[in-house]
Amino acid sequence: MLIPTLKEAPKDAVLPSHIFLVRGGFIYQVASGVYDFLPLGKRVLDKVRAIVKEELDRAGCQEVQLGFVTPAQLWRKSGRYEKYGAELLRFKDRKENEFVLGPTHEEMMVELAKQFVNSYKQLPLNLYQINLKFRDEARPRFGLMRGREFLMKDGYSFHADEEDMVREFNHMETTYRRIFERMGLDFRVVEADSGAIGGEGSKEFMVLADSGEDTIVVCEGCDYAANIEAAKRAEPTPPEEAPEADPNRFHTPGISAIEDLATFFFVDPWFLVKTVAKRALYDEGKSEIVLFFLRGSDTLQEVKAANAVGANELVDVSEEELVAAGLVPGFMGPVELVRNVNAPEGAPVYKEEAAVHGVTMVLDEGLRGAQKMICGANEKDYHYVGVNLAVLNDARFADLAQVQEGDACPRCGAKLRYTKGIEVGHIFQLGTRYSEPLEATFLDQNGKARPFVMGTYGIGVSRLLAAVVEQNHDEKGAIWPASVAPFEAVVVVGNVKDEAQREAGEKIYEALRQKGVDVLLDDRPERFGFKMKDFELIGFPYAVVVGKKLSEGKVELVCRKSLAREDLSLEEAVAKVAESVR
Ligand code: ATP
Ligand code: MG
Repeated sequence: MLIPTLKEAPKDAVLPSHIFLVRGGFIYQVASGVYDFLPLGKRVLDKVRAIVKEELDRAGCQEVQLGFVTPAQLWRKSGRYEKYGAELLRFKDRKENEFVLGPTHEEMMVELAKQFVNSYKQLPLNLYQINLKFRDEARPRFGLMRGREFLMKDGYSFHADEEDMVREFNHMETTYRRIFERMGLDFRVVEADSGAIGGEGSKEFMVLADSGEDTIVVCEGCDYAANIEAAKRAEPTPPEEAPEADPNRFHTPGISAIEDLATFFFVDPWFLVKTVAKRALYDEGKSEIVLFFLRGSDTLQEVKAANAVGANELVDVSEEELVAAGLVPGFMGPVELVRNVNAPEGAPVYKEEAAVHGVTMVLDEGLRGAQKMICGANEKDYHYVGVNLAVLNDARFADLAQVQEGDACPRCGAKLRYTKGIEVGHIFQLGTRYSEPLEATFLDQNGKARPFVMGTYGIGVSRLLAAVVEQNHDEKGAIWPASVAPFEAVVVVGNVKDEAQREAGEKIYEALRQKGVDVLLDDRPERFGFKMKDFELIGFPYAVVVGKKLSEGKVELVCRKSLAREDLSLEEAVAKVAESVR
């Protein structure tokens, strides 16, 4: 068997899962974010796949397999050819036809349903595949955690109405829970960002791990949990009495940072208006400057902010660009800006200097009706004090602030705190987002054509290998749960030159196979210590070691997790392994 274990980890490997999957001979990197699966890696992958398949089939889903190469025209129709940005790998064939390597398959699956599902009588339907995906990620890293080519289970359900879709969404949540439980994972189901669609129709499955790239907000009092991109909080209470001040323009020479202003005015940042300027990028290369206003005590949550204006992405904007748009960096504030921009044609301009152009403004919900605030005067070195933001009640408001540790839970009021997670699954209530533009309809009971109401459900199959190791390892190597281990046990022959040891090893190996244990025989002509190091690095759940004590009729059973060893008779060892892995 090809098991090329290594002493050294790759230079760029920092996570235990990355280090041990490479050193253990599971995977080999062929290009940035592209991996080969070697025999051990393929075995784990197949076991993960099998669990996913078994549970989905049990749940009534049907497996299909769609092309990895997808026609660009479908992506144009859905509007994602542009929207997906640089992650989408576009290419042409010899006849100049345009294609995309599938990063996800909504368009393709909708196209399939459009062809073959015509009537409400054929609904509901849940189709899935376990297939390669390609996303030209900006920063492929952490081994299988964030690859460019990776294996995903992606499922899509089709329904006649919203209610039935929600039923299936909940059914998928239950099914996903079973899948991840079978893999022995410690995970949380969290409310997630649902983009411009909004609502509570998006949940992520997060494997808890310090190395996780996602920040999750969890409640210490109840089971509320949400991705920080979507987390809510109970309305915060002011930290102190509002500062008394008559509305006034105040000289604040060179003072523009929130902390400096707070010191200057002797107020909590709560009473300051923070302005965050961004450039929002839209389809077809369109973009605009957006000013986001929030309390000085809050920070901008960029995903919420992008959703608020329907942007594909927010990027930084330079001072020169702000000046060119008629803004005063460091001293921007919402009052005249919002008034002037919202003012009907011909209405008197509140203040001449504030004639800005091409700028959109959004205020955080937390500023609605805020009193006695301090904000930039849109004039160099000046701020306004005693500002009443109720005058802006017609302006655009959205939830923009990032939930902070210590904020109150939106459900029960207890304290919220942060934890880290690895996203291994995502379920999403799609509605008609794709069926409408792709004109995928069915005839309802009254013979009327209606677009399918859809749900979409993903699992990061190859990422799961990394997630499992992240949660199951020690300093020596991986510790696989039996359900996804490359082999459930290994029989190590201490000295292969010893005929008796070899024979006993083979006997145990056969006996374990008879009992249905997925077992490997290590009869390599290597030193005993080397083979045991490999066992610890690779992380099979059990090793049955045939060594010197064989003369007393004993073998040693080693549990990888506890590294506990016990001397047993051959029969006892076989029985114990068989029982433990079931
Ligand atoms: P992320 O936020 O981690 O980039 P995503 O939200 O883009 O993920 P989805 O589009 O929901 O991911 O894809 C479904 C699942 O595929 C994810 O839950 C994740 O487990 C997996 N996945 C996504 N991107 C990658 C990647 N680059 N490498 C490996 N697995 C991935
Ligand atoms: Mg996601």
